[in-house]
Amino acid sequence: MKSVLSVAMLFVFGIRLSAALPVESSADAAPCLNWTEYENATVRLMRKYLRIETSNPPGNELEAAEFFHRLFDANGIPNTVFSVAPKRADIYAILKGNGTLRPIILLNHMDVVRAVPQDWKVPPFSGEILNGMMYGRGALDMKDIGLLQAMVMIIVANEQLHLKRDLIFLGTADEEIGDTGTLWFLAHHADLLRHAAYLLTEGGTSVTYPGKGAFYGIDVAEKAPFWIRATARGRGGHGAIPIPDSAPNRLVEAMDRVIQWQTPIHVLPVVEEYFHQIARLQEEPFRDDFLNLRESLKNPEFRNALLSDSDFNYLLRDTVSLTVLRAGEQTNVIPDAAYSELDVRLLPGDDPQDFLAQLRKVVRDPAINLEPVGQFRAPNSSPITTMLYRVIEEVVHQHDPQAVIAPELNGGYTESQMFRPLGITAYGFSPVKVSPEVEETQHAANERVPVEQLRQGLKILFEVVTRAANQ
Ligand SMILES: [Zn+2]
Repeated sequence: MKSVLSVAMLFVFGIRLSAALPVESSADAAPCLNWTEYENATVRLMRKYLRIETSNPPGNELEAAEFFHRLFDANGIPNTVFSVAPKRADIYAILKGNGTLRPIILLNHMDVVRAVPQDWKVPPFSGEILNGMMYGRGALDMKDIGLLQAMVMIIVANEQLHLKRDLIFLGTADEEIGDTGTLWFLAHHADLLRHAAYLLTEGGTSVTYPGKGAFYGIDVAEKAPFWIRATARGRGGHGAIPIPDSAPNRLVEAMDRVIQWQTPIHVLPVVEEYFHQIARLQEEPFRDDFLNLRESLKNPEFRNALLSDSDFNYLLRDTVSLTVLRAGEQTNVIPDAAYSELDVRLLPGDDPQDFLAQLRKVVRDPAINLEPVGQFRAPNSSPITTMLYRVIEEVVHQHDPQAVIAPELNGGYTESQMFRPLGITAYGFSPVKVSPEVEETQHAANERVPVEQLRQGLKILFEVVTRAANQ
């Protein structure tokens, strides 16, 4: 499909883009684009997008879907808003390529986590700019990427670029809580996505470490949540007459064994590659050790140092966090039941039933019942030996020659997990680079994005997508 430069288009950008390239133009013509105007439009539209409150709950993503709908309509991009629930919607837009290669999906969630306004310097849904930073809930998670993805669609349409792959934009509801937007879309319209080869979404880390340089992580795999409830039962009674094997006592003893448990170390190839790449960012003596992780782990001193660093430990093993503890209501009553919940995260490829069997051995108490909570979704991953991975490396290095680029195993969960089973190579990649301090504002107060990085990020994402869409 080729979009025409409409009057509405001129309105959106407030400029005359008479330099629209001839029909035979391709992504290679990127340097000829009027970047300043596109960047200014990005900044203006990002502020508008941040002002749409999509705190989840309740979400209210319909308003965000309509924002994109108007934008796409104004630029001649075919799109549909799908109602998922009252006031909740997904939006799907497509720019047709010539059909010789399979589509690329640009996936983003439109909901954001809630914000407590008192904790913020500026109102969290204001899009205010202070000292070069644009503030707003969703500035990094992930209205920035969503808006940049929409801008890439708009530029491709506006410049009438010929691509081989279709570009599909999918904005979803409810990622932060129940994934109902994506679940609904996959249940009702998987046919619109099934043929796709690649997907880009959130999950990658892009950070500048002061004095060390830039790091771009490409999220290729995620650990899988496997939540478990442990319930102890026993005789209840008066608190004045202790019961040594009461439910609370047995539970606490069992949980003590669980938190002392050192789960086995398992170095996945993607994690080995990650350490190899980030070696450059480390101080000695870690620098050499990271280059050859498998060997280095044989040294007990290094192994202990590495495992005691919480940023690295979880990459090397299944992890267990004790998060919920519940027992009696009254100080003088020994309850007959107590339970706890464990947030277990499994490495991709690990079997939940095997893990549960190991955990039972660690708990060593038949009076404690262990059962999974919620539905387990088997973790999956995408290979790093792909065209898209290589294109991201090329483009990032072109903009940032010294940047370290590494595949990442994400400790959390991203919706990539739901798309890979369709045969799609899915990566988390953020073209927006921030400082570690700003990175930590996701899901916290004063979430913000550097305006300059939004501008830079637009160019990076545009080049990644348009190059990948032609090979
Ligand atoms: Zn997110």
